[in-house]
This record gives sequence, C-alpha cells and structure tokens, in this order.
Amino acid sequence: MGRPTTREDRQAALRALPSVDQLLKRLEGDNVAAQLPRARVVVAVRECVAAERHRLLDGVRAGSRPSAPDPDRLVEQIVRALSQAGAFSLAPLINATGVVLHTNLGRAILSPLALDRLSRVASAYSNLELDVAEKERGSRYAHVDGLLRRLTGAEDALVVNNNAAAVLLALESLARGKEVVVSRGELIEIGGEFRIPDIMRRSGAILREVGTTNRTHLKDYADAIGPETALLLKVHTSNYRILGFTAQVTARELAELGRQRGIPVMEDLGSGCLLDLRPYGFPYEPTVPEAVAAEVDVVTFSGDKLLGGPQAGIVVGRAGLVERLKRNPLNRALRIDKLTLAALEATLYAYEAGTARETLPVLRMLTEPLPSVHRRAKRLLRGLSPVTQRALGARLVEERAQVGGGALPMVELPTVAVALTGRPAEELDRALRTGDPPVIARILEDRLLLDCRTVQTAEVPLLARALSRLAERLAF
Ligand SMILES: *Cc1c(COP(=O)(O)O)cnc(C)c1O
Repeated sequence: MGRPTTREDRQAALRALPSVDQLLKRLEGDNVAAQLPRARVVVAVRECVAAERHRLLDGVRAGSRPSAPDPDRLVEQIVRALSQAGAFSLAPLINATGVVLHTNLGRAILSPLALDRLSRVASAYSNLELDVAEKERGSRYAHVDGLLRRLTGAEDALVVNNNAAAVLLALESLARGKEVVVSRGELIEIGGEFRIPDIMRRSGAILREVGTTNRTHLKDYADAIGPETALLLKVHTSNYRILGFTAQVTARELAELGRQRGIPVMEDLGSGCLLDLRPYGFPYEPTVPEAVAAEVDVVTFSGDKLLGGPQAGIVVGRAGLVERLKRNPLNRALRIDKLTLAALEATLYAYEAGTARETLPVLRMLTEPLPSVHRRAKRLLRGLSPVTQRALGARLVEERAQVGGGALPMVELPTVAVALTGRPAEELDRALRTGDPPVIARILEDRLLLDCRTVQTAEVPLLARALSRLAERLAF
C-alpha cells in the first residue's frame, strides 16, 4: 500500500485534464460535430471530461499515477459517440428478421400512395374538419367512414389512436359499471402491457369470466347473462392458439344469443383483415366483413397489423352503438391525428380500388411467391464480392419466416435468407445492428440469417454495402 492520497495528488492529476473549452476548440473543424446542434456537442464533451475526471481520481485513490489523458484520443472518442448517436433518434433500419409485422420495428410500412397523401396533407392546410361545400364544421371521421362502411358492410365507423384505445373506448361507452361476459380462453395479453382484464378494469366495466381455458360453450354465456350484463365480448386470440380438446363459440352464435337477449355483442378482432388470405396459402382468419355479416354489433381492429396501414384503432358496427362511442368525451382524448387519417384513407382506398395486395407492403411481403424472394436474396449475394462472401461465410438458405405482430401465430412462411457463418453469430449481429443503416437480423443455430422476405428491393444495395463494410472491419 502507498501513502494515503492527498489533495495535492488529486490536483496534480486533474491538471492534466483538458477543459471543456479546449476540447470544443479542437472539435471546431470536425465534420460530424459541425452537423449537429452545438448544445448537443457541448453535452457530449462535458460527459467525456466528467468520465475522464472519474478515471483519474479513481487511479489516484488506488495509489497509481494515472496517465495524462491525450486530448486527441478524447476528441476521437467524442466524435465516435456523436456519430454513433446520429442527429436523430427515430430512424429507419433494415428489417432482415423475416417477421413481417414486427411491433418493435414499427409494424406496417406504408404504401407509396399513403406516403403521398400523408405528405400532401401535412404540408398544407386541409379540410380536416370543414365541410367545404356547405362551408360548415365537418367531422374528421367523415374522411374514412364511407370507405369503412363500403369495405366492411357496417352501418357506421369510428377511428381512434390505436386498437387498445378502441377497445377501451368501446368498453367505457357501452359497459361502464356493468358486466361484460368473456370466455376464459380469450383473456389475452398482447405485447406492450395490453391485457383484457386490465383494460376492462380501466374502463370501469366488470369482467364476468365464463367457461374454461380450453372450452367455452354458448350455454356458459347464456347462463352468465343477468340484469347487470351490458355486453358479450369475443376477443381474437391473436398471438396464440389453444389446441387439442377445445371448443369456442363462433361470432355468429354469440351474436344470435345477444340478439335474443337484447344485449350488444362486441368482437375485438385484433389484426382485422379485410382480405381473405386463404388463396395465398394462409389458414382461415376471420375477416372484418365476416364479423359484420355475422351480425356482431361492434367490431374493433388495428390499422397497422394485417390491414397494412398506419397505427390506428378502427371501430365498425351498428350506428346507434358507434354513435355512443363518438359522443363519449374520452373519444376526444383518444382521437386520431390528421397524418394518420390521411395515410389510413389511402390504405383503405387501395382495398376499394382492388390494388391492396400489390401496393400495400405488408400484403405484398406476406403473399410474395418464394421464387421472387429467392431472386432478391440472390441479388443480395451477388452484390457481395467473392472476398466479402468468403470473409462472412455467406450463402443462400431456405428457411421459415413469421408473420408477427400478434397475427397468424401458427403460420410459417417459406423464405430465403443469406446465412452468415464466418464469425460467431452474436458478433456479426452486434456489428450489423450498430452499423449505418442498422440491420436487424435473426440468429438461428449460430448462423446469422438475413431473411430477404422483409428486406425491401430498394434496400438490397444498402444491405450489400453494409455487409461489405462489415467484412472489411472483420479483416482488421
Ligand atoms: C394487437 C391487438 C390489440 C391492440 O392493438 P393496437 O393497435 O396494438 O393497440 C388489441 N386486441 C387484440 C386482439 C390484438 O391482437
């Protein structure tokens, strides 16, 4: 052990530390720093100086004589941190996971038409709440409710911020302080803290569970109906399936029971498909028009799952009931914004025009034939030099991809990936995730898979460049 450290020791060590101003001066000519707000550069420099101060004092306390910091090294560190963080936090990346509806990666990509409408409406004043012909106050919902009525067959429609909000609003409007009957097999939790029992409590409705996890019969619902019953609720088990000895009541049977007993029936469809995807090899999934045709009174679904539009919650159903949702003051707090509305209108328009499958990226990715995915994967592989291919151990493999986003949980889509085996998968994964643009891949049995089903055609050259840079980095 050395002698105890003194104030003089500490001061001597700290004298070697460059000041914030000195480092800022050195950063003056730097390209990365010049492109960022000065306040942000100052914070980065302060953080760096504070970290160095800690390092020096820790060294003194431990009895060593810490080396004087090299200002050039500090500047380099600061520039690296600034350029890694970039100017913006929310930024695009390449989804090579093969999961088409990835909640953490922003779910649906918008169609060119939706982007065009969104940017036109965003860059000018609009008729958001003005009836231009009558020159009087209009409703923002008027821009989509005709489309939704025609596409689903429902009497009326309402759109809010997301489907969780749609469910909350519907329960609060129709069943506050009253009972809602739900099957035990449908008390779902989906990602991001959305649990049916919790949302029910928040809405002030009282949950009345019926049946068992695997089997619920119509009689269970019928027996639960009493003077306090306000709603019969069916919830689509979006992200799981109960298999084996099971029984569920269909939407049609429940709607019939509700009609007989004078109680409204609601179905939370979750994903809310407007198209039957069976012709493309998918299993049966209830569509919104089917739920409406089954005479379910209120149907809720998401805008950014299988529908392929912006984040939104859509409610369609009987006019009188939807009207109660519209008049609820809570609706004002959950209301949809104009950018979403513009993108949603364009998305719905594609369904009406019959161009949804080709123009909505979600549907295009889900229904793209394997040979077409294969061609894109081959183009990616050919974009890599033989040296890069060898360094990364890159080759094509046939794999299975998932739909994701709490939709079609049992479906595995055939897909083609570029597999990398040149280094441990974790190492390759981290390097690609922290690149520019970031690439999010999938690890399977110590191979890093770049699944081309979710890589957009325009991204192929970018991805090839990211891989070439990665190979160069690995060579050192
Ligand atoms: C996804 C989902 C929700 C929530 O929808 P968001 O649009 O994410 O708010 C609610 N219910 C079901 C059944 C779902 O699948």
